[in-house]
Amino acid sequence: MDTRIVVIDREKLQTADELLMEAARILRGGGLVAFPTETVYGLGANGLDDAAARKIYAAKGRPSDNPLILHISAAEELAPLVREVPEAARKLMEAFWPGPLTMIFEKSGIVPYGTTGGLDTVAVRMPSDPVAGRMIALAGVPVAAPSANLSGRPSPTTAQHVIEDMSGRIEMILDGGPVGIGVESTIVDVTGPVPMLLRPGAVTMEMLRDTVGEVAVDPAVAGPVAADVKPRAPGMKYRHYAPKAELVLVEAASPAGENPGSGDRPAGTAAVLPCGVSAAGTAVSAAVIDTINRLTGERMAEGRRVGILCTDETKDRYPRGIVRSVGLRASQETVAHSLFAVLREFDDLGVDYIYSESFARDHLGQAIMNRLTKAAGYHIIYCEN
Ligand code: AMP
Ligand code: MG
Repeated sequence: MDTRIVVIDREKLQTADELLMEAARILRGGGLVAFPTETVYGLGANGLDDAAARKIYAAKGRPSDNPLILHISAAEELAPLVREVPEAARKLMEAFWPGPLTMIFEKSGIVPYGTTGGLDTVAVRMPSDPVAGRMIALAGVPVAAPSANLSGRPSPTTAQHVIEDMSGRIEMILDGGPVGIGVESTIVDVTGPVPMLLRPGAVTMEMLRDTVGEVAVDPAVAGPVAADVKPRAPGMKYRHYAPKAELVLVEAASPAGENPGSGDRPAGTAAVLPCGVSAAGTAVSAAVIDTINRLTGERMAEGRRVGILCTDETKDRYPRGIVRSVGLRASQETVAHSLFAVLREFDDLGVDYIYSESFARDHLGQAIMNRLTKAAGYHIIYCEN
C-alpha cells in the first residue's frame, strides 16, 4: 500500500481543510490515518466500524485484546457512546477536556466489541490538538486510535517516527510536527464508586485529586502484573514502550521497602537514604552516576554498545558510552517531551544496553517513571552511597 504523507501547516490551519477532508474520507471509508495529538501520534480508524478498527491491530502487530481509545471532537459526542456519564466524569471533563485525559465508561450498544477488545467498557478522550479535533469533526465519527507505533516500540512523538513504523501499512500520515506532551494520555476508570487511575499522564494524580477528591490507583501502575491476572487496561500486562536494547534503570535506594517494584537489591541491604537526592528529584546521587559509569565500562569491555539516558544537569559526568540527555531534570515537561524520541534514537544507533537515571515519581514524574520502568521490564538496580 502507498502511504500518503501530508504536511499540515499549523499556522494556516484553515487552508488545511481540504487535506483534512481527505483524511476524513479515508476514515469514513474504513481506512487508516495517523494523526498528531497533543500527547503522541495516533493511528486512527472509524471507531464504530468493527472491520476498520481491526485493521489497526494488523497495522500495529498488536494483540487484539488490547482495547482502543475513541477520540471525539466535542463533549456532546460522548453521550451516544456510553451508558451513563457519572458525576466524577462530568467534573473531570469540565476540568480537563479537551486535553490529555481518557476516561473509561460502560459502553453503549453502538460501540463495537472490535474497538473495546471485547470489553463492555469503552475508553473516550477529546484531544486538544486542533489538527486532531478538526479531522475528527470532519470525519463525523469517533476515531479509534492507539499510538501510531508498531506494537512494543516506543510511542511516536514526530511524524518521522510514524513514517518509520507505518509506511506501507496505512493510507495516510498527517505530519503536524512534533507533539507537545510526549507521553500518552492519563487513563481514569470512572465506572466504579471511586475513580481509578489506570495509566498516569500529563493530567497528574495531584490534578485529579484536586478536582474529584479521592482517586484510587490500579496496582499495575506501580509494578508488574502477575501473568495470571487479567488487568483492567490490557495494555498494562505487556512489556511496553520498549526500545530494542536492554534498558536498565539505576536508582538511589530509599529506606528499606520504599522503592516500588522489584529490583536487584538483595533483601535487607538498603537502609540509608542516599545524599544528593532531593524530594523533587532535582539531583542525582553520585552513587547513581558511579554505578552507571561502572556498568558502562564493564559492557564496553565486553565489546557492547552502551547508551546512557541522563539529563542536562548530569550529561557531562559520563565520560564513556553514547550519552543522551532527555531534558532538564528540574523541568519534568522537557523530560516527558523527549523520552520516547531518545529511546528511539538509541534503537537507531543500535546500542545493546541502555543505562538510565531515574526520576522523581510526583506530578508528571509518575508518568515518566511508569513508562521507563515498563520499558525496562521493571529491571531496576538500586544503589547506595
Ligand atoms: P494506546 O492506544 O497505545 O495509548 O493504549 C490505549 C490504552 O488504553 C491501553 O493501555 C488500553 O489497555 C487502554 N484502554 C482502552 N480501552 C480501555 C478499556 N475499555 N478499559 C481499560 N483500558 C482501556
Ligand atoms: Mg501505545
